[in-house]
Formats: sequence, C-alpha cells, structure tokens
Amino acid sequence: MNPLSTSAANLPFARTRALISAGALEHNFQFLSRQAERPLLLPVKANAYGHGVRAVAPVAAASAVVAGMAVATPTEALELAELLRELNCRKPVLLFGPSFADEWPALVAAGVQLTVNTLAEAQALPDGARAQLKVNTGMNRQGLHPAQALEVGQELQRRGLLAGVYSHFSEAEAPDHALSWEQFAAFQELLKHFPGVLHHMGNSAAVLNLGPLPGMDLARPGLSSYGVMPPIHTPELIPAMTVQARITFLHWAKAGERVSYNGLDTLERDTLIATLPIGYADGYPRRATGQAEVLIGGERRRVLGRVCMDQLMVDATGLDVTAGDWVTLWGRDEWGQELHISELSRWTGQAEYELLTQLGRRTPRIAAP
Ligand SMILES: *Cc1c(COP(=O)(O)O)cnc(C)c1O
Repeated sequence: MNPLSTSAANLPFARTRALISAGALEHNFQFLSRQAERPLLLPVKANAYGHGVRAVAPVAAASAVVAGMAVATPTEALELAELLRELNCRKPVLLFGPSFADEWPALVAAGVQLTVNTLAEAQALPDGARAQLKVNTGMNRQGLHPAQALEVGQELQRRGLLAGVYSHFSEAEAPDHALSWEQFAAFQELLKHFPGVLHHMGNSAAVLNLGPLPGMDLARPGLSSYGVMPPIHTPELIPAMTVQARITFLHWAKAGERVSYNGLDTLERDTLIATLPIGYADGYPRRATGQAEVLIGGERRRVLGRVCMDQLMVDATGLDVTAGDWVTLWGRDEWGQELHISELSRWTGQAEYELLTQLGRRTPRIAAP
C-alpha cells in the first residue's frame, strides 16, 4: 500500500498531480545565486516552466536571493502582478516579450516593466512607464543592435523611463565559449553609456558555464532554477517537480494478449496491468511509447503499448499495489527512487523545456515542502 495514497483526500477528484517542492526551489535559487554572485531575476514564464506560477511565486517572493520575476507575455505579466499584490510582494515584474501600444496602459498601471525594442517605442511609451532596453548581441530574436541601442537608451534615459539594459546569450551551453564572450563584450561596451541602471544577461547555461559575469547586477536562470539543466552536469540542482497519477484500474491479462492501440506489446506472461489516468493530452509524451518507465509500488516498471490520449498502462505484476495508489511519471517517489525528466527527454527526443511546459491543465500543481 502506497503511503501517499491517503493524501489524495486533500484534493478530491485529483487523479494526477504535480508536487512542486518549495525546498528544492529555494535550494536551486540559492545555489544559482551563489554561482552567479548576483541576485536572480527569476523567469516564471509559461506558467513557471509548467510548475504553476501560483506554486512558484510565493517561494520566489519569500526568497532573499530573488530580486524580481520575469514573464513572456502581457497576459502573464498582468496575472503575475496581481498574484504578487495578493502576496504583498513588491518585487518588480519584467515583461521579456514585446508589447503593443494598446497593451501599455494596463501594464504600466500594474507596474510591469516593459522591454523596449525600437526608438518609436521609446518615444511613445506613456510617462510613468518603466522600461528595460533590449540589446541584440547575436540571438536575432529581439532587441536593437548595440549601435542603435545607444540612441534608444538615451531617449529612455532623457525621459526618465530607463530601469535597465539587458541582452541574451544564444548558445551559452556550447563547450566553446568564444561566441558567448563576443556577445558579452559587445553588451559590456554599450553599458558604459548606461551606469546606474540594471544590467543583466546570464541565462541558466551562462550561469553554469561562464561563471559570474563582471559588472552584471542580476542573473536570469530559468530552467536550472527548477532544478533541471540537461547539457551541463550539475548534481547540485534538485528537480522541483514530481508528476504522479493514481492507479484507476487493475486487471489481469493472459500471456499472448496485446496491450493498447495497434498491439505494439504482446504479453510474454500473465500480467497484472495497472491503468493510469494520464496520457498525451496531459503532456505525457506519446513518443515515449516503447521506451517509457514509471515508478510504481517501489519499483521501476515499463509502460505497456502505446500511450493513449488520457490513459496509459503499466506492468504491475508482482507488486503490492491497489487502485488509488500514486505512481510517479517523473520526479521522486516516497521510496526515494528518482526518475529524472532528462530520462523522458532521452526517450522522446524532446527537450526538458518542452516536456515541462507541456504538462497540461488537468494536472493540479500542488505546493509541497
Ligand atoms: C527564458 C529566458 C531566460 C531563461 O532561460 P533558461 O535557458 O531557462 O535559463 C532568460 N532570459 C530571457 C530573456 C528568456 O526569455
């Protein structure tokens, strides 16, 4: 009998859940802040990388090493600003993505800092706005080339709107750091013209690969703050998310029978099949078919046959399990076993960034110690 199965009583009807460990988050924030030798501007875009902004923001709000939070879209920014107000948290919110003029009044009223990518924006922003200038040092996604950024930053400064200047690495995870240092040098050169406002550039890969960046005020590690950093071996990080589903049905099938759509798996022996209420509509990847394992009843077991939209089947033969028990799809189980999201990434060829942010809306995110 799985000891955690009783705690489902806390959340009636929940048959899947993502436990979000506050302790793991705070540990990662502190570790990364020490590595960067700076406080963090914590990216909580895409519902906090799938972890649930409502589970993560309170931890970030309380953390001494988190100076502010950042999101990708205006909707996310307004939701986060509202949430931080409820939490009585006065840390700033930065909108990384571009915004349209008709969105400015609401964003400015909510105190959200805007990212400026053009001279026209710098001239048209309403008085009272707070803005950060984005510099394109090679990513070519957003921002101004350093030569044009100077004029735009000066316009923002003249108007008293400039709160920061920032840029973004395009391949800080590469073993060869030459391009990253070139990007950083171009950024630093520009910053001479903008003392006294916030300067920042480092994402997860930069914090872990390049070390403390001279002259920066903040670091912006996203994925690694959630305890995951695939290309760079970092045992200090603790994954904050554990995804589980309850066994909804158990039954025996005979040797020779096939399981799930298209009969990809033929049973070699009489098999106890546990059916779990999680599938690709919940973000458990269909591509994991044929490769995936889960943690069930204290053991690692194979997923049988094709992953369905809402369900999948697991070999539970010989395990002491009953309907209602929680099974771990990734994360840590109550026996201390770990199934790392990077294993799922290897099985599917999908990046951890994708797997985490795909976790669907049917799964409640639950704050855990
Ligand atoms: C998402 C994002 C980050 C964080 O990137 P990670 O690779 O998750 O660390 C930092 N800065 C900007 C501008 C981003 O959009």
